[in-house]
Amino acid sequence: MSYSTTKPPLVPCPNCGTEQIWDSNNTFRPFCSARCKNNDLVAWANEDHAIPGQPLEDVFSEDLDRGY
Ligand SMILES: [Zn+2]
Repeated sequence: MSYSTTKPPLVPCPNCGTEQIWDSNNTFRPFCSARCKNNDLVAWANEDHAIPGQPLEDVFSEDLDRGY
């Protein structure tokens, strides 16, 4: 099995799974497009704000106690 260094690697988009050529010039990498990049950020933000079993007030008070 030979490996060509001239062949660019294919990476799947984390959002839609579409395989794409890894390009360091692609500002959306590892995503295939701005749409997928934005979708992932939105999903990440939504998960980050949803803290199961812990009211938001408790989170804020803990942060204050730590001196944040
Ligand atoms: Zn995508």
